[in-house]
Amino acid sequence: MESMRTINIRISDFASAMGYCQYIAPNIYELGLKRKLSRQLLAGKALHERLEAEDKLVPREEATKEQLADAFFDLDFTREGISVCVERVNQNNFRYNGRTDKVIRYKGDVYIIDDKTTSKESVPDRLYLDRLLQLGAYCEGFIRTYSPMISFNRLLFRVIHRNPAGEVIQEKSMEYGQEARAILVENFNKFEGLINKTMQPQHHNNPNRCRPCGFFDACKWRVESPALPKGV
Ligand code: SF4
Repeated sequence: MESMRTINIRISDFASAMGYCQYIAPNIYELGLKRKLSRQLLAGKALHERLEAEDKLVPREEATKEQLADAFFDLDFTREGISVCVERVNQNNFRYNGRTDKVIRYKGDVYIIDDKTTSKESVPDRLYLDRLLQLGAYCEGFIRTYSPMISFNRLLFRVIHRNPAGEVIQEKSMEYGQEARAILVENFNKFEGLINKTMQPQHHNNPNRCRPCGFFDACKWRVESPALPKGV
């Protein structure tokens, strides 16, 4: 019988494997491939660095234990300052790690905020599955890591889409309640099934997803658009 392993997973990788393409799981965790940084990822990195530098200029005092325990004392945590972890046992020990962009507590509710960059001028109103899974996992990690010391009534997550200049083009919030947690747990189970090889990845068969994918060059499961006939 194989002994239990501890597998460290970045929450963002889990979210893209379940919300974008399931072959991302074997590419990272079996084949050890690294995602190539696209122009959009580099723009996102630059924006995060800028927002973090601006946030450091905001004057803050460290909250006391009593203030943390008082849900109605508003809090504004340092950007990129809250790391979370979700541990689950499912044949192996799965440890999902991530660092939130921004966390605030306002009027008794905690908001976990994530900034995404997009080159599009508008973003559909629905919340993409990868976003929901990433933010849901952060919320779950926040509950497990911080709820003994930070009080709150509701826990919500907010995705802020910005253009490369940093201007907000859309914000979408959702409460992390039973519905979001059920979707998260279902996807944790599927993802762990892929790693434990009790499940096969499902292919989306969509060349439009493969084309911008950071694994495209090395991925043996990629699908490409058929070449156009000569003269077209
Ligand atoms: S290249 Fe296509 S099949 Fe491969 S990981 Fe990316 S989206 Fe999935």
